[in-house]
Amino acid sequence: MKFNFKLVKCDFCNRKIDPLKWELHKHKDRMINGVSQGIFSTSYDYKKNKLKPNMKFNSMWDFCELLPFDKKFAITLGEGGTPLYKAKKFGKLLGLKNVYIKDEGKNPIKSFKDRGISVVVTVAKLLGFKKIGIPSCGNAGISLSFYASKAGMESIIFLSRNISKNKLKLLNNEGTKIISSDVNYPKFIYQKFFNFLKSKKDIYNAFAQVNPFYHQGIKTIAYEIFYQLNKAPEWILAPCADGAILSAIWTGFKELEKLGLSKNIPHMICVQITDGDPINQGFNKKLFQLKSYETPNPPDSIAEGIIATCSFNYSKVIKALKESKGKGISVSDVEVKEAYIEYLSTEKKLVSEQNAEFEPTTATIFAALKKLSKMNGVDKNSDIVVIGTGGWPKIKNGRNWCSL
Ligand SMILES: [Zn+2]
Repeated sequence: MKFNFKLVKCDFCNRKIDPLKWELHKHKDRMINGVSQGIFSTSYDYKKNKLKPNMKFNSMWDFCELLPFDKKFAITLGEGGTPLYKAKKFGKLLGLKNVYIKDEGKNPIKSFKDRGISVVVTVAKLLGFKKIGIPSCGNAGISLSFYASKAGMESIIFLSRNISKNKLKLLNNEGTKIISSDVNYPKFIYQKFFNFLKSKKDIYNAFAQVNPFYHQGIKTIAYEIFYQLNKAPEWILAPCADGAILSAIWTGFKELEKLGLSKNIPHMICVQITDGDPINQGFNKKLFQLKSYETPNPPDSIAEGIIATCSFNYSKVIKALKESKGKGISVSDVEVKEAYIEYLSTEKKLVSEQNAEFEPTTATIFAALKKLSKMNGVDKNSDIVVIGTGGWPKIKNGRNWCSL
């Protein structure tokens, strides 16, 4: 198989690895409950693969020179090309002049995960797999059920106990096998999934947090924001469970800098739920060398998609936070509801005209933005982009999770 990238290497030992055999490259001291961390970086020939200064795009595959494959191979449902709105009124309420929302809820299966899953399913299909599996708390599993179906593959989805009923209904049942787990906490789901895979060699491992192809799709969020603003913003806020989204977006901006297109890299902000925030606790305590900080008893939050006990991408996310001079901001359910009500009240036109509503996991960005606006050293004129990771149809109890 021919890839577009020049090199895939291990972040810990710098060895070049075969991207098709990534699961075999492990470091014993970097495992979490028997599961390997996400430890791979990919680089392209940045001299050859130049993106144009003013690119127009309709889908993320328009950036295929910096994706593993040409778009003619893509298993695609039209992911990417999502809108960027200016939230002028909500920004004004917080004293911020340039607040933008990247609405990833406008992806085909309504979340940013579609980007990564499109690339992962493409590689599985090119390798000749007929089955593909993933552990998921919701959106990744829903996305995989549709992309696998498009590829004519069977999907096997390990779900956590705390997935909402509304999300379960959204799974594409055609060709989907659901294995419900009796455990809530993410890391145990992953452990169960990896134990299951050991005896099933015919299932491709689409585990989003560590599959190096997944990150390739997610990084295109950075390219799109760059072209929509004609520059990189000063700040990016992203809801994080494992934080793969944050390290992938940061990677995208690093690539734009390497290509000579972007002059700056945004300060990255990791948004998590208070007490289910292993990355933020580790970062704020300056614990940079751990395989992951753990929060073993996270709350049963409305932000079901980011309840976290550990991070398989801890090292990568900490690196992005450190190098970008970013921050870890944790928020409570009360703060999320309060900020989301303020967003809905101030941005009525945006909400009704663009259907710019979000699930509770995503609404954490509004609460974190409020906290950021009160912090020292934040220029009120900065361009600030919050990542709207998932759209409203997936929320608990329809639209009533946060009624006005
Ligand atoms: Zn290594």
